[in-house]
Amino acid sequence: MKLLVTGGAGYVGSVNAAHLVEAGHEVVVLDDLSTGHADAVPEGARFVEGELSEAAGPLLAEGFDGVLHFAARSLVGESVEKPELYWDNNVVRTFRLLEAMREHGTPRLVFSSTAAVYGEPEQVPIPEDAPTRPTNPYGASKLAIDTMITSYATAYGLAAVSLRYFNVAGAHGRFGERHAVETHLIPIVLQVAAGTRESVAIYGDDWDTPDGTCLRDYIHVDDLADAHLLALQKAEPGRHGIYNLGSGRGFSVLEVVEACRTVTGHPIPARVAPRRAGDPAVLIASSGRATTELGWNPTRTALETMVGDAWRFAQDRLPV
Ligand code: UDP
Repeated sequence: MKLLVTGGAGYVGSVNAAHLVEAGHEVVVLDDLSTGHADAVPEGARFVEGELSEAAGPLLAEGFDGVLHFAARSLVGESVEKPELYWDNNVVRTFRLLEAMREHGTPRLVFSSTAAVYGEPEQVPIPEDAPTRPTNPYGASKLAIDTMITSYATAYGLAAVSLRYFNVAGAHGRFGERHAVETHLIPIVLQVAAGTRESVAIYGDDWDTPDGTCLRDYIHVDDLADAHLLALQKAEPGRHGIYNLGSGRGFSVLEVVEACRTVTGHPIPARVAPRRAGDPAVLIASSGRATTELGWNPTRTALETMVGDAWRFAQDRLPV
């Protein structure tokens, strides 16, 4: 298939673009490099640097079989402080993308949604029909897009899939996570192991969980990419499929730190800090629908596998 990958120079987008190229697809990456890196575009993909709502139309006029849409702002804290960035970059620009797809008859869309659409869960594991009550503008912007996509599938026959990621981790060879502002647990802990940060702050050890720290469902970015390939194959005209992607089990913050100690051999000093605003105690996916309907089975579910791949990626990037 000829596929447009928006945000293909970012973490999840670049790993997916690499998998798509490896699977033999013709890939065009569109990215404005606001947070991505030009050298993260895989060999074999064509790279177009440009702003989504301006560049998507002229590109799609060439004729594409589908779009994988990763381009987005994705920092929860920033979304609270500067919501306009999220309504504009995420919602308005995705609306323009959908309009360009409609104009040029692009038949398929796979959208990068998030567990943040659910907010504080009533039940875990979280199924796709759980109430959607996002607690920040980031989650709200992704939910608005999911709603928009459903309406385009119904009205215009778009074959659409939204994949709601839980905590993405790991790396795919030289494609991995490198944010200018790092807020995610595993990369932060690995910065301590690498010596570029002194210690890790554990955001609360008095949660109602077995060891008092928060539980999250970590999913390897390669397993995520497998789901995108399946979604492309299984997308049906006029239907918007929505799937949670997680490994179905939770690891605590302390378990993550311990796995990083094992993998890196570094003591990794940790200190307890106050809870972070907006953190739910437990987030675990029910991914049964993705297994049943897409035939998806995550296989890199051991924490050591995810941390090990992220660690190799981080080490390759350290100055020698
Ligand atoms: N966390 C932490 N210290 C950090 C970063 C994160 O204790 O420096 C915790 C955070 O409170 C949450 C878990 O690690 O319970 C995962 O956080 P992350 O930001 O990686 O992902 P989120 O679950 O917020 O999407």
